Amino acid sequence: MSDCLFCGIINKEIPAEIVYEDDDVIAFKDIKPVASTHVLIVPKKHIPTLIDVDDNMLIGKIHRIAVELAEKNNIASSGFRIVCNCNRHGGQEVFHLHFHLIGGRVMNWPPG
Ligand code: AMP
Ligand code: ZN
Repeated sequence: MSDCLFCGIINKEIPAEIVYEDDDVIAFKDIKPVASTHVLIVPKKHIPTLIDVDDNMLIGKIHRIAVELAEKNNIASSGFRIVCNCNRHGGQEVFHLHFHLIGGRVMNWPPG
């Protein structure tokens, strides 16, 4: 069993509601959704934070998948947010890189 929660989901040791998967990326529903659509898009490689990324293609691919999932969830034209929380001030709780796709309601700016 992996020490990392998201590696556990990727390895199918921990259950999740998977909505997308390929060789490099997995996406699953957030366990505590903050909107009607709240999906986490996660590289399968264990990368702790955005600071540790050395593969720009992967980050581009994740954003393309986010847009595809937004279209699939009918939130593309109404609008959505892609969020990557980094380290303590950013509010990162799980130290395996992930991007939140959130939509289905109006969101405030700036974040609290
Ligand atoms: P962050 O603060 O960016 O690290 O966000 C971590 C996110 O992971 C939070 O929105 C949690 O609700 C979510 N989360 C934690 N455990 C699980 C899980 N087992 N399955 C799905 N999402 C989870
Ligand atoms: Zn991991």
